Amino acid sequence: MNEKEQVLQRSGGVCELCGTSSNLQLYEIKPRNDYILICDTCLDNINHPNSETPRHWRCLNESMWSEVPIVQALIYRILESISSEGWPQDLLDMMYIDDDTKILAEEMQLYTQVQTDPTLDSNGNVLNTGDSVIIIKDLEVKGAGFTAKRGTVVKNISLSENKDQIEGRVNGTRIVLLSKFLKKV
Ligand SMILES: [Zn+2]
Repeated sequence: MNEKEQVLQRSGGVCELCGTSSNLQLYEIKPRNDYILICDTCLDNINHPNSETPRHWRCLNESMWSEVPIVQALIYRILESISSEGWPQDLLDMMYIDDDTKILAEEMQLYTQVQTDPTLDSNGNVLNTGDSVIIIKDLEVKGAGFTAKRGTVVKNISLSENKDQIEGRVNGTRIVLLSKFLKKV
């Protein structure tokens, strides 16, 4: 049984935070690459906390008794993040959490957008929006009817969803360029 199958089995097929049985997915928790089974609503409240979020987390008063360390750690972190509400602090005080699990909770990388792989130039340097790059090879621009010449500097680039591509303006036209043919300047 691999780790994901183990998670499905231990969870009993319900969200390990709120207990719902619909819209479930395996959620990877960095940095230790543990998984928990979580529903869309809980995941949304983790990634995009809003004014209703504390109310949603009332569900943790049951799941806090989970014996799974990664689940305990996640709940601990969530309760800590809303402890100013008062009642979450009461739950934190009641939780059985050992030192290792507390460390695990502190290490968790939460409340961040999904980490995407960086866009790298030909030398492996990370490219960011707003950078300037130089084209290191003549590139035919499909659909635009011109060649982006080697040595052309492209200022103020934008990243794209595809980590291998950036967008920038060449000859007055906004085009997509492959980052492997670019060098950061
Ligand atoms: Zn849930």
